[in-house]
Amino acid sequence: MSPVGRHLSDHHCAHLNGAYDGYVRCRQCGTTDTRVIDSRVIEDGDSIRRRRSCPQCSARFTTFERIETAPLMVLKRNGDRVPFIAAKVAHGIELAVKGRPVSAAEVVAIVAGIEDAVRSNGAPMPTQSVGERVLDALKERDPVAAMRFASVYKHFEDLADFERAATELAEP
Ligand SMILES: [Zn+2]
Repeated sequence: MSPVGRHLSDHHCAHLNGAYDGYVRCRQCGTTDTRVIDSRVIEDGDSIRRRRSCPQCSARFTTFERIETAPLMVLKRNGDRVPFIAAKVAHGIELAVKGRPVSAAEVVAIVAGIEDAVRSNGAPMPTQSVGERVLDALKERDPVAAMRFASVYKHFEDLADFERAATELAEP
């Protein structure tokens, strides 16, 4: 049902116009609340083909997005949209799990899971939700690491300010 070939999604075009807003509208009903049901890297490795579905009207459609022009965005509490930086999230988690029985591979898996969730969210995910997801993932693996992470996050205005959290965790 979908045309094959490179299609510039709303997503992509918006970015090229400098007004990237991190979501893809449903082709049929126009809602921005679409879900990614399948992603695969195509061609020379710099594009992603995504199957999306619309929870509002059940339409399904395909978008082709260039990887480097489709940064994942998250929504800060003050309303700013900022890029989701997986390395920052990973750094915050690494400091929280230091000396704890959580392997590097598990950290990578946690970050990958969160990145998938951010990507599948349709609209930019609030940074608070990102922080809560990290916390939930740590709770499943190691309560001490989760507590360390929580202690740093709870008093931040913005729960996902990973750089500040990382700095604080690094202090003795
Ligand atoms: Zn729809």
